[in-house]
Amino acid sequence: MARSQAASEQCPVVYGHPVDNQTRCVHYHGPTDVVAIKFPCCGRFYPCFFCHEETADHPALRWPVEALDEPAILCGVCYHVLTIRCYLQSKYHCPFCGAAFNPGCAHHAHFYFAFDPHVVLQGGEA
Ligand SMILES: [Zn+2]
Ligand SMILES: [Zn+2]
Ligand SMILES: [Zn+2]
Repeated sequence: MARSQAASEQCPVVYGHPVDNQTRCVHYHGPTDVVAIKFPCCGRFYPCFFCHEETADHPALRWPVEALDEPAILCGVCYHVLTIRCYLQSKYHCPFCGAAFNPGCAHHAHFYFAFDPHVVLQGGEA
């Protein structure tokens, strides 16, 4: 299921309640709220945890630390998909287009990741 994907894949569909085409949603729509995350339970991208909770018919699962190299983070500005590791190490800027990401997302990391992102930021493995 989690095979590495071809570079020429199409733009992923973003589910939930997006309010524009940069993945802002009814819950988070500040200037830097431009990432969507793929959930491991359904393989779909949502702008945020609450979008998943309100529109999916199942409880959300979180990514385990083994999934650091999953392409699971979508930049809503350039539509490149980052791996979780790449996102966590990005210093809240898209490495492809330079768009600023919301650093406040770090406070919600436990909604999405079943591990402490600081482990990754400090370069160590769990
Ligand atoms: Zn799901
Ligand atoms: Zn949302
Ligand atoms: Zn980007």
